[in-house]
Amino acid sequence: MILDGKAVAAQIIESLKQDLAKKNISPVLAVILIGDDPASRVYVRNKQKKAEYIGIKSQLFEYPIDVEEAVILDKIHQLNNDENVTAILVQMPIPKHISREKVICAIDPKKDVDCFTPENVGRLCIGIKPYYYPATPQGVLMLLDSYNIPIDGKSAVVIGRSNIVGKPMAQMLLNRNATVTLCHSHTANLDEIIKTADIVISAVGKKIVRCKMVSKKSVIVDVGIYKDSNGNLTGDVDFNEVAPLVDFISPVPGGVGPMTIASLMVNVVKSYDANKPVS
Ligand code: NAP
Repeated sequence: MILDGKAVAAQIIESLKQDLAKKNISPVLAVILIGDDPASRVYVRNKQKKAEYIGIKSQLFEYPIDVEEAVILDKIHQLNNDENVTAILVQMPIPKHISREKVICAIDPKKDVDCFTPENVGRLCIGIKPYYYPATPQGVLMLLDSYNIPIDGKSAVVIGRSNIVGKPMAQMLLNRNATVTLCHSHTANLDEIIKTADIVISAVGKKIVRCKMVSKKSVIVDVGIYKDSNGNLTGDVDFNEVAPLVDFISPVPGGVGPMTIASLMVNVVKSYDANKPVS
């Protein structure tokens, strides 16, 4: 069965839109974009378009690639203190002369809808509810939940250990009582580990999951997305080979990608309540 992220995400977006209209509230998303990387521009535009469709106001602050670090940090402080702004996104990657660490730490955790700040990541790890969950792992769990796929007690393998996908994905599965193995480029016997899994979540960025590795009845979620040698969008899983063997599989495109945007929008909508003035 195909895990249709496009359809599930569309339902979430519609329900967020109705929710905002019913409550007559409008969260405000501030986006900081540095430089003119075309991919980053497309990502930001897509997020803004989706936000505006739902009824979220969005503000874009653009800076040239050689902008000074202090200018960005000042802007973040200003947005933190702006009562009208409920959510802050800094589009990654940022230029090397600007400290990623300083930028992340500067964001108010209550407005950190990407879940980048040490406070939100720390909360996630020690089991205190963070203000927001990271968009992609939260999107993966929303996709699994929408198909009633059980997680509690299952063995889950996450491939990839980035701060934005692999590590929080593993932590969130652990928080849902899965038995989790987190794999990376130094993992020995990856094939055998994948074979033991009920749930495989791959976030690598190259073809890694082949039919010989998966076991029947498993659930395969493909987070990877990149262009193949013909310029076509593809994922980490050999979809045509693997799909006939397993119980559930997410396609690329149309799987985790739309769920990530929907999940981010869930966070932005939540940011209204997180930043409500105390009356
Ligand atoms: P990343 O920071 O480049 O991390 C890639 C991870 O893959 C690293 O942990 C690396 O291990 C591991 N890896 C590399 N080769 C491997 C191998 N042969 N066997 C096992 N593990 C291997 O990437 P990311 O930001 O997490 O993104 C991963 C993929 O997901 C990319 O294709 C990205 O475009 C995609 N993505 C999609 C969405 C979405 O919404 N669909 C969102 C975010 C990312 P080491 O740590 O040992 O180097």
